[in-house]
Amino acid sequence: MKWRNHLDIADAVADALELSPHRKEILRQASVEPDKHGERVLHFDRRGEPYLRWMRHHHPEAEVIEAMAWKARYALLEGREDDAVWCVGKALHFLQDDCVSLGPLGTRHDRSELAISELRLSRETVVSGVRGAKVSVNFMRECLRSIRPSRDPMTALDRAALFSGALAASVLRGRNPERRLLSEWLATRRRFLLGVVPASFALAIAAFVSSLLANEPMITLIAFPALFAPFAYRRYWFLKEEMTWFGL
Ligand SMILES: [Zn+2]
Repeated sequence: MKWRNHLDIADAVADALELSPHRKEILRQASVEPDKHGERVLHFDRRGEPYLRWMRHHHPEAEVIEAMAWKARYALLEGREDDAVWCVGKALHFLQDDCVSLGPLGTRHDRSELAISELRLSRETVVSGVRGAKVSVNFMRECLRSIRPSRDPMTALDRAALFSGALAASVLRGRNPERRLLSEWLATRRRFLLGVVPASFALAIAAFVSSLLANEPMITLIAFPALFAPFAYRRYWFLKEEMTWFGL
């Protein structure tokens, strides 16, 4: 995507999130930074030797954008808001480039980007992305996984606008979980620590002891699924991860 589009989206996102003029400028600069200086990512070769590789702008690795979102979120939670906005800006750049289909072997690259640069951004699309966003790590991931490059310039720009608004809001809004989510987490954690974990241990020990008493080693097999029960309690693990988005 051309700078003009990156900057238009940054402006619209900053306005929708009501960022100060100073932070708006940070978001704008960060949104074009990867085209100015590139972005290098640390990788390890087969022997475990570290090396730096330039990050692709089209079809970038979703995990690297996710890592930028996490960096931004931690910065926000630590009160380093300028850093948070900077990291979000860079993540948005890659997300936006990823919405553009380049055709086989990049044959449509220049044509697609030129066509997009002539379009007007729909600010309402950015706003609907912001409004529809959830402050949630799973929502942020879902955004990144849902991005598909489009051949149609208008669709590509609309997707870039929608996902940019959604991702930025999911990272930069709400430092504390909503009361309902927090109370569900506290109740689930209590159930997990006081119910599921002790019950699974008790069942495993009972199976082990009965197998000894009955001299029937097959009974110990019951102990294994019992010990895995806490890992299968998915709601607990889901909420636990959501809480890390709030630094809890
Ligand atoms: Zn780029």
